[in-house]
Amino acid sequence: MMTTQTLQESGIAGLQEGRVARSCRLSFLQSRPAAILQLLLALTVCAQARSAVAQESDLDPRIVKLVSSVSEERLGVILKKLESFETRSTLSSTTSTTRGIGAARQWILDEMKSYSPKLQVSFDTYQVVAQGRITRDVELRNVMAVLPGRSPRRIYVSGHYDTVARPGGQGTANAAGPADPDARTIPPADPNAPLDNLAPGVNDDGSGTALTIELARVFGQSGIDFDATLVFMCHVGEEQGLVGARLHAQKAVAQKIPIEAVFNNDIVGNDRGGNGIIDGATIRVYSEGPEDSPSRELARFIQRWGGRYVPSHKVRPMARPDRFGRGGDHSAYNALGFTAVGFRESRENFTRQHDVRDTFEGLSPAYLAQNARVNAASAATLALAPPPPDVLSDRGQPLITRAPSGYDANLKWNAVPGAAAYRIFWREAWGVDWQHDVRLGNVTSVILPNMQIDDYVFGVAAIDAGGHESFVTAYVSPPRTSTDIKTKPGTF
Ligand SMILES: [Zn+2]
Repeated sequence: MMTTQTLQESGIAGLQEGRVARSCRLSFLQSRPAAILQLLLALTVCAQARSAVAQESDLDPRIVKLVSSVSEERLGVILKKLESFETRSTLSSTTSTTRGIGAARQWILDEMKSYSPKLQVSFDTYQVVAQGRITRDVELRNVMAVLPGRSPRRIYVSGHYDTVARPGGQGTANAAGPADPDARTIPPADPNAPLDNLAPGVNDDGSGTALTIELARVFGQSGIDFDATLVFMCHVGEEQGLVGARLHAQKAVAQKIPIEAVFNNDIVGNDRGGNGIIDGATIRVYSEGPEDSPSRELARFIQRWGGRYVPSHKVRPMARPDRFGRGGDHSAYNALGFTAVGFRESRENFTRQHDVRDTFEGLSPAYLAQNARVNAASAATLALAPPPPDVLSDRGQPLITRAPSGYDANLKWNAVPGAAAYRIFWREAWGVDWQHDVRLGNVTSVILPNMQIDDYVFGVAAIDAGGHESFVTAYVSPPRTSTDIKTKPGTF
């Protein structure tokens, strides 16, 4: 049954006990005196808003169990194994069974295969010719494990397993080096020789790789029937310019693979900054703008749901694509229009990056495990939820108006398959975090009387019968087109 709900003051005002109720009431009082607000459809909304107040106890016990099965010990074992290959440089030897990228990718493949028959593990292979930082023709192999869901839409958890070490490493580059740290790379005497110098890369990005491998195990063995298909992806060629990720993203576009979200983890295992500041209780999540882009909404989602399932670990969303002047694989997906965010440890030690000192000694498996739990909780919630709503008309216009009074917020959205309810969010137009939210029934529109759409940002998420919530789709004002004004010659 698709009907419009109207939120109004008297129904909401009766709810005093929770954040949601207070938020609603305050918003309406700010917008207009309560006495003149229309009364239409209170009780349903009230009941649902009340249930929203109790949402912290509404965690899915299956996700709680999945999150708790992340093993700090196993992460440590994987990190030490990755370190044992001595280098995983994209251009290192592929002939040794114990050293270099050939041995490393085979081990990652075999390891993920061993976890569960439900995981479809394979190489994602590309033939790349010499160009830029790739000094010779080379076969690149991402390693991926697919856990099929009920639908083809895909959620990725990823890291990059290749490594690099240069004289001076990232520490020198940051302190005094030239703007492009890669300019410090010494070109090999023979471009066809394997680049086999020691490059353990335990944090960059053994940490993201270990997290991805461990979550392949945890999800593959969970027994949960997810709606979305999960992909655990170990990228290669990141240090040569996000090459493995860019190629896979290109393939996804060409083959119309529906990638809904990418969680990229790169340098997520160290809690001791090179400046002596220690922080093992927070993780940064970077997302490309503009401010209500799907990637920003994914970051807000991770803050919301990671925070609920792992309250001991704080998610710090960062409203920028990545760290200043630095990049990572999620940007390769963003560049082709996919929703993707980058997880980064809060306190980096630059002297251990791109350097022979990037060893197990510089890692905190306990910290890495917390970051893995935040990934697990967010990815599992997203994979059990319906996809996020589409809020555009057939003509690509946002389905938001001031009707019926001319001063109301009238939100519509397209019905989402599998949704049993929706939650609307809003905030003052000057701000980044959602300030208010209300759960609605199975409707595809809502009217908020006297809420000026000029003053607030609105969004909507889809919820399934089990309470799993998608990330939010925001109503974004379309860019205005402009034409040049014709003037007489000599006007300027
Ligand atoms: Zn990296």
